[in-house]
Amino acid sequence: MAVELDSIDFDPDFLRKKYREERDKRLRQDGNEQYQEVKGEFSYFVEDPYIDEEIKREAIKEDVEVVIIGGGFGGMLAGARLREAGIDDFKIIEKGGDFGGTWYWNRYPGASCDIESYIYFPLLEETGFVPKQKYTNAPETLEYCKVICEKFKLYDNACMQTEVTSTNWDEESLRWTVKTNQGDELRARYVVHSNGPLNRPKLPAIKGINDYKGHTFHTSRWDYAYTGGSSHGDLTNLKDKKVAIIGTGATAVQCVPHLGASAEKLYVFQRTPSSIDVRNNQPTDPDWISTQPKGWHDRRRKNFETLLTGGMVKEDLVSDGWTEAFRLLFGNLRNKAPSKLKMASWALSGVFSPKMYKAGFKSYMTDKVTEAMDLRNAMQMADFQKMEKVRARADEVVKDKATAESLKPYYNQFCKRPCFHDEYLKTFNNPNVELVDTDGKGLEEITAEGIVFEGKLYEVDCIIFATGFEVGTDYSRRAGYQIHGSDGLTVSKKWENGLATFHGMHSRGFPNSFFFGPAQSGFTATYTYSLDEQSIHLAHILKVAKDKGATRIEASQEAEDQWIQTIIEKARLTAEFQENCTPGYYNNEGKVNQTPQNNTYGGGPIEFFSLMEKWRSKGNLEGLELS
Ligand code: NDP
Repeated sequence: MAVELDSIDFDPDFLRKKYREERDKRLRQDGNEQYQEVKGEFSYFVEDPYIDEEIKREAIKEDVEVVIIGGGFGGMLAGARLREAGIDDFKIIEKGGDFGGTWYWNRYPGASCDIESYIYFPLLEETGFVPKQKYTNAPETLEYCKVICEKFKLYDNACMQTEVTSTNWDEESLRWTVKTNQGDELRARYVVHSNGPLNRPKLPAIKGINDYKGHTFHTSRWDYAYTGGSSHGDLTNLKDKKVAIIGTGATAVQCVPHLGASAEKLYVFQRTPSSIDVRNNQPTDPDWISTQPKGWHDRRRKNFETLLTGGMVKEDLVSDGWTEAFRLLFGNLRNKAPSKLKMASWALSGVFSPKMYKAGFKSYMTDKVTEAMDLRNAMQMADFQKMEKVRARADEVVKDKATAESLKPYYNQFCKRPCFHDEYLKTFNNPNVELVDTDGKGLEEITAEGIVFEGKLYEVDCIIFATGFEVGTDYSRRAGYQIHGSDGLTVSKKWENGLATFHGMHSRGFPNSFFFGPAQSGFTATYTYSLDEQSIHLAHILKVAKDKGATRIEASQEAEDQWIQTIIEKARLTAEFQENCTPGYYNNEGKVNQTPQNNTYGGGPIEFFSLMEKWRSKGNLEGLELS
């Protein structure tokens, strides 16, 4: 598999120049402002199409120990880990009609997860569930959510179809009042905010969206009543319909093959191509999981994330397209010292820059900076190799040469979410499917009849927005509710000039609040992994607080300030990598590090988890004020 550096058959200088050009033509002044909020006249884009019957119930006025906001994997894991810790007095509030979070909403045709199911599904050892395939799909994921909820009896604690409208802290009673759109008023000692990092669909600010007279929806609210079919495809109602899909990110890559198979005509409007690698899904060997030694699940997900974000492993357990570039790199550097290999893999995952040598890695400086640059070059070479394979695949699969060229991504693999699919590229060979490549420009105009690009009108019956979710906008805007802490302080106010947390989970001024998510925390490609770690952390803190008889927990100012500094320092490690990337939500739409504390923990998740584990093992909740 490994290719020696002297046998490369691409021109690195050409690629460097090409990457730069492709990035530059996509940089825009308006960054995140290019998108518009889905509210007011656009609210129809976020209505729930999946509920059979609206719940009508009496408003709840109750005191509870913990309110968990969000019934996705974060909320489910929080509930499960609290149960394990013997804390049963909690309520989970979820706006959807069932548990599932992102998987409740994203049930578009083809929806599936391309992180291996054996690591993506949390609590596999606890539930004994065996995923059917290496990569699971949305229906099986929703089925698994039910398994978790039944195992940990979470339905007993759930309020579905209920949206939180506000949370207010009362210093006198040391309680949060959580209000909802069902008229509920829950008085909670603790509140866990697990509202999802990609929960708020976004629309590009394309002129005329509401002038369009045809049918339209966002992929996260798939309208099966219009298209027919299910998450498995077979969209029979589209056989006499002309359809346009806007966006070619991870979501579009999965639903385009189904649209292409069913629609009379499909136009795929592309701004930036995704990297489409081999998926090669396989059925699970039914005996494999039952023969794994205890602790296999945690070891496997740790192995995967270690490899992806900075560490050496003896064996690549998952061994798929995510980890291939790292295998190539290790092959290329076979004879180098282990410390250099570690640095090299950091670099490849973006957790590195030459500044690192100056910042905290002086011990490696005993050699020369030129050597560092050699390593850096080797890392870039491994990425070039990997992406050349991805680009070659477009030529191999797509018959029309111009279309194949348009589908080639020119950026490093981890600049954008890598995609893995075996039918997407093939779909462009269907005579009814047309790629409209906007060459980085994106769309600007929609009329009553359809989409206009470069003066040409594409008349369609339906426009589907596969344009993703808000990232980096105001917290309460994404959450859908405001948080009023001590003295009426809001999170919007507190974080308006930059995030301020302790360990990503606590924020001074918001006692007894716990924030789940990647901000100032460890971010994993296997997102359920970091949610599980946060849930374990939460359960530990509440258990210790209970044992100590504490009823108020708040981060100290000093601990929070120090953590912000840590985040800023570590953010430098990824800044250079991200600056060279084509814009997207991974690099704040090209506006990298404008507020350096608005980052995940730059040392990578494994380092972060180990830091948290050490912190927990001290048992004194250092940095938190308890009373
Ligand atoms: P993304 O944000 O990744 O993609 C949005 C797409 O819309 C991009 O192709 C973007 O282009 C395009 N776009 C935005 N504005 C315009 C415009 N004005 N004109 C034309 N195109 C435009 O959203 P997704 O829903 O695809 O994915 C979100 C995330 O969800 C993923 O990154 C991943 O984390 C997760 N996911 C995971 C899956 C999996 O496990 N396989 C499957 C699906 C989603 P540009 O790139 O130029 O910005």
